[in-house]
Amino acid sequence: MPAVPSSRPKVLMVSPMPEWDIAPMREVYDLIDLPSDGPVGLDAAGEIAALVTSGGRGADAALIEALPALELIAVYGVGYDKVDLVAAARRNVAVTNTPDVLTADVADMALALTLALARRIVDGDAFARSGAWRNGAMPLTGSVSGRKVGIVGLGRIGEAIGRRFAGFDTEIGYWNRSPKPPSAWRAFPTPAALAAWADILVVAVAGGGDTIGLVDAETIEALGRDGLIVNISRGTTIDEEALIAALESGAIAGAGLDVFRSEPAFDPRFRRLSNVVLSPHQGSATMATRQAMGALVRANLAAYFAGKDLPTPVVRRAL
Ligand code: NAP
Repeated sequence: MPAVPSSRPKVLMVSPMPEWDIAPMREVYDLIDLPSDGPVGLDAAGEIAALVTSGGRGADAALIEALPALELIAVYGVGYDKVDLVAAARRNVAVTNTPDVLTADVADMALALTLALARRIVDGDAFARSGAWRNGAMPLTGSVSGRKVGIVGLGRIGEAIGRRFAGFDTEIGYWNRSPKPPSAWRAFPTPAALAAWADILVVAVAGGGDTIGLVDAETIEALGRDGLIVNISRGTTIDEEALIAALESGAIAGAGLDVFRSEPAFDPRFRRLSNVVLSPHQGSATMATRQAMGALVRANLAAYFAGKDLPTPVVRRAL
């Protein structure tokens, strides 16, 4: 029997989402997984008005151009640096993301990495498990409380990181592209000037072409031999070659990294360094936050198909 054409909207799933999001979406939409070889040959390409993608996968120009009916790109994440906004604008495609609901967890991760790095929590765990403790105490570690924390990028997550560090009696400084209202936090004119002042540099700036290597060799070296770097933004925002060189030579004391230039196959030199704490891009990866992110993706899809205002637009369609 020939298949009966469905009148339900078709939504292209570019990246996998948890079943708790897929199940309610399947009740409303025809979900089509993007074939592993891309959109070419996708039978329904001309009927797909919306796609869902992750921050890491985004949507490039080739994908956008291959979907002539596309009007919405819903990103399951706050970072939309992998979405080709120029191609989306050319085709008058709206873009949404999932801001705010993940801010707290990502900021928590910045604190967790800082504490793990400074207090050598991962080394301590291995030390205790191995039985080495019986032969003497573990080497002393460094403090977080009372130190100077510099935040590169004082957006939603950067501000939440600052609020958390304030509870550790730290002095807080920041560099931000655009001016921020006056506060007790000290503004610096460049990331390098911030790093020269700070003991701990936390990177929370958006990814994308403009911020590639924003934390460069000069900034890393300015941090000094006792300095720590924590990155929860994107792997691209730090010059990774310069970072690895500084970690290998001892030009800085250590790094706590949730993001890498190439993920998940990150630079193997990180694995050999004892002065790093590595996290596999877990910033927003809690059950509660992923559920809230999924709900926001679904709310954006529902609003789009109902012709209503998008709850969290990055770019609206010109009507
Ligand atoms: P946000 O509120 O939009 O803040 C973005 C920050 O980046 C602001 O400080 C903004 O400066 C700055 N920025 C944007 N474009 C810039 C440019 N071209 N040059 C210099 N600075 C620029 O975003 P958010 O919610 O805080 O998220 C920040 C980033 O965290 C995301 O973009 C994402 O990459 C990352 N993230 C990581 C995880 C994880 O799991 N590790 C999870 C979520 C998000 P202005 O104030 O001047 O606009």
